[in-house]
Amino acid sequence: MASKYDVIVVGTGPGGYVAAIRAAQLGKKVAVIEKESLGGICLNWGCIPTKALLKSANVFEYISHAKDYGIDVKEASVDFPAMIKRSRGVAEGMSKGVQFLMKKNKIDVIMGYGRLKAGKKVEVEDKDGKKTDYSADHIIIATGGKAKELPNLKIDGKKIIEYRKAMSLEKQPKSMVVVGSGAIGVEFAYLYNSIGTEVTIVEYLDRIVPVEDEEVSKALEKNYKKAGIKIMTSSEVTNVDTKGKNCKVTVKTAKGEEQLEAEIVLSAVGVATNITGIGLEDVGVATEKGKILVDDFYKTNVEGVYAIGDIVHGPALAHVASAEGIICVEKIAGENPQPLDYGNIPGCTYCSPEVASVGYTEKAAKEAGYELKVGKFPFSASGKASAAGAKDGFVKLIFDAKYGELLGAHMIGNNVTEMIAEIVAIRKLETTGHELIKTVHPHPTMSEAVMEAAAAAYDEVIHL
Ligand SMILES: Cc1cc2nc3c(=O)[nH]c(=O)nc-3n(C[C@H](O)[C@H](O)[C@H](O)COP(=O)(O)OP(=O)(O)OC[C@H]3O[C@@H](n4cnc5c(N)ncnc54)[C@H](O)[C@@H]3O)c2cc1C
Repeated sequence: MASKYDVIVVGTGPGGYVAAIRAAQLGKKVAVIEKESLGGICLNWGCIPTKALLKSANVFEYISHAKDYGIDVKEASVDFPAMIKRSRGVAEGMSKGVQFLMKKNKIDVIMGYGRLKAGKKVEVEDKDGKKTDYSADHIIIATGGKAKELPNLKIDGKKIIEYRKAMSLEKQPKSMVVVGSGAIGVEFAYLYNSIGTEVTIVEYLDRIVPVEDEEVSKALEKNYKKAGIKIMTSSEVTNVDTKGKNCKVTVKTAKGEEQLEAEIVLSAVGVATNITGIGLEDVGVATEKGKILVDDFYKTNVEGVYAIGDIVHGPALAHVASAEGIICVEKIAGENPQPLDYGNIPGCTYCSPEVASVGYTEKAAKEAGYELKVGKFPFSASGKASAAGAKDGFVKLIFDAKYGELLGAHMIGNNVTEMIAEIVAIRKLETTGHELIKTVHPHPTMSEAVMEAAAAAYDEVIHL
C-alpha cells in the first residue's frame, strides 16, 4: 500500500466508490478508506437489500392473488428467515462487486476508520487499533448517513429499531408501528404488512409521503388502507414503554392521546450524517445543520478537502451521491463538468403501488407563480395495466402553460420507478409538451400513460 495518492476517498457508498472509479478512469492514483463494507449503506443496508425484501413481498402478494390470474395455488407461506437470508446474500454479492471494481480500476482499498488530519492527511485506524497516515492532494469525504433518532424514540435495537435491524430481524413480528412515512417508512410498512404483520404508520405531518404531490399521497393512503395498514397522520409518538411483552406507544393526535400496542416500533424519521469524529474540527472544515458546506463542485472551505453524498445539502439519495462524486472528481481532474441540476433529481419509493416523481409538485409550481396545464392519465384506462392486473394509480404531468416546459411529473402505480427516467431525460433536453405528445410510445406499455398524460394536459387525450 502506498502512503501518498492523488485522491483519497473516505467512505465507499455510491458517492465514494463511484468517485474513486471516475478518478481512476481520469488517470489518478486513488485509494478508498472504508470502516465497514464496500458499497456503503446503499448496497449493504439501504437501496439494494430493501429492494430484495420488497421483491419477496411482491412475489408473495402475486402468489396470494394467483386466482385473479386464473392460477390455482394451494398453499403459500412466508419463510421469513429465508427472505432475510436472500436479502443479505444479495447485499453481500453487491459488495463483492464493488471489491471487483476497485481491483479492476487499480484502486487501493484501505480498511479502517478514517480521520482527517492537517496537511492533507487521513489517519486510518484498523480493527486492531493500529494507526497509519496516508496523504493525498485531494481528499473526498463521503462518510454518508445513519438513522436519525428522536428524543422520544430512543433506538434500543430490540423493540425500538431502525432500518438495519428491520431488514435483519430473526423473527417476523406480529405487529409493528412505523414512525415516519417517508420512502423508508412506507417501504417497510408495505413489506411487513404484505407478509402478514399488523402495521400502523404514525406520521407527524398531515399526509403520508409528504414530499410527494398531494394527489399521490392520497392515492397511496387509499391503497395502504385497502391493504389493511392503519394510518395516523398529524400524529406524534410521545412515548414508548418497552417494559412489557409488547411496546405501549403513546400517540398525540388532533383528537387527543391514543395508545397503540406493537411488538416492534420502527423509527423511520430520517437520516443523520456521519460528520462527527472524522477530524473536521481539527482541520477547520465548515459545517451547517449537520451537513458539510461545499461549493458547486463539492470543495469545502479547506483547500484539497471535498465532500459528497448524504453529508452535503441536497436529497439523501444514492444516485445524487454518485452524480456528485463524478462531478467532484472531473473538476479535480481539470475537466469542465456542469454543476448538478438539483431541480431534476428523480425520487422513487418502491412500495406497492410504486411512487416516482421529479420536479415541481402542483402546489409548489403554483406557489412559484407558474400558470399551469396539468394532465393526468389513470392506469385504469391503460391496456397494459389491465392485462397486468395493475390498474391502480396514474401519471400526472405539470406543464408551464406559457412555454410548454414540463415542470414536474408524479406517478403512482406498477413499474413507475422505471418510467420516471424518461421524464428526467425529457426535462434535461427541455422537451415541450407538444413534442412529448408526438413521441411515439410502444404499445402496450405502462409508459403510454406518460404520452397520454401530456395529451390530457392539452385536451388531446385519446383513451379517456
Ligand atoms: C433503508 C434505506 C433504503 C434506501 N433506499 C434508497 C433507494 O431506494 N434509492 C436511493 O437513491 N437511496 C436510497 N437510500 C439512501 C441511500 O442509501 C443513500 O443516499 C446513499 O447510500 C448515500 O451514499 P453515500 O455515498 O453518501 O454514503 P453511504 O452509502 O452512507 O456510505 C458511507 C460509507 O462510509 C463509511 N464510513 C463512514 N465513516 C467512515 C470513516 N470515518 N472511515 C471510513 N469509512 C467510513 C460507511 O461505513 C459507509 O460504508 C436508502 C437508505 C436507507 C437507509
